Amino acid sequence: MKTAKPSSSSTMSVPFLDLKFQYSSLRSELLAAAARVLDSGRFVLGPEGEAFEREFAAAQGAPLAVGLSSGTDALVLALEAAGVGRGDEVIVPAFTFIATATAVSVLGAVPVFADVDPARLTLDAASAAARVTRRTKALVPVHLYGGPADMAPLLALARERGLAVIEDAAQAHLARYRGRAVGTLGQAGCFSFYPSKNLGAAGDAGALTTTHKDIWRACVTLRDSGRAPGRPRYVHPCVGRNCRLDELQAALLRVKLRRLAVWTEARRRLADRYRSGLAGLPVTVPPPDEPGSAHAYHCFTIQTPRRDALAAALAGAGVGSAVFYPLPLHRQPAYAGLKRRGGLPVSERAAREVLSLPLYPELPEASVDRVCSEVRRFF
Ligand SMILES: *Cc1c(COP(=O)(O)O)cnc(C)c1O
Repeated sequence: MKTAKPSSSSTMSVPFLDLKFQYSSLRSELLAAAARVLDSGRFVLGPEGEAFEREFAAAQGAPLAVGLSSGTDALVLALEAAGVGRGDEVIVPAFTFIATATAVSVLGAVPVFADVDPARLTLDAASAAARVTRRTKALVPVHLYGGPADMAPLLALARERGLAVIEDAAQAHLARYRGRAVGTLGQAGCFSFYPSKNLGAAGDAGALTTTHKDIWRACVTLRDSGRAPGRPRYVHPCVGRNCRLDELQAALLRVKLRRLAVWTEARRRLADRYRSGLAGLPVTVPPPDEPGSAHAYHCFTIQTPRRDALAAALAGAGVGSAVFYPLPLHRQPAYAGLKRRGGLPVSERAAREVLSLPLYPELPEASVDRVCSEVRRFF
């Protein structure tokens, strides 16, 4: 019998992410799901999409879900259904993926950047409150990296000022905040199934969840060229868009959704291992969950002023890492013309100091240990 050459753990490389690990374990089920759709000849708004909406809502702990073509479209539709339009202001964190703000811009509304809190790096209620004007229509807290934003003060602010709350949960599948599912705390929650997200399609896909029947009805109409369900096919009561989830993506997502809870638990265990493995080092790690809350660990993201040197050292040792995001939104060329209201020091610092380490359900514990010892060696 041939004995495998023992691979030295000090030379083994740890990729930041490799989606092939997940695909290889699900290959036959995914191919069977794709064949089922191709054989059916039904590709848009059919039984797979309906089943996925039911199953995703149940998994996420929301009464209603709407399948959509991307997380960005989920944000656009949720904002539109909540009444955001031309000239309105919407408060978004300055530190997030740009789609949080572009969803506001494409509606002719104006994103107003507020700062994030230093521990969670999510929308800071005091900074948001300072930016509310008579034109403000909504807040969009982002559950960044899968960690729930501190929603209680944001919901209180929204109640007090009569604002809608649209959660950007694109990175936060199955996350919870004080016993409640993210995506059910405001008017709607917006999820992305971009391939690298915790639940990833084989292309672009998204969904929104809501507890509001009227938001649900508006979104199923808006996503389908303004066609209301149950009404004559070519009579359009409003000006809609085309941002439907297709049957092929829905069928593939249903296969993966059955594993999502187990995958998310694996992410949480690996995050705990990182937290203990990095203890005592001069890096800020994500705080552990408060009681009743649960991080989804889309990313395990540390902060250090020596970020670029650390990333280079890790790359030299064969360890992948990534910076989400190197520019806060008010520094984006796309938003160069936008007037700023007040400073955004935490967002500025986060953009300089964050570094995400490899984290995916298939990542071996030994790889986490290896990454921790490389970080330790650097310091
Ligand atoms: C991925 C992402 C989006 C956009 O989702 P897409 O499906 O890529 O359109 C929006 N917000 C955040 C925070 C994201 O990470």
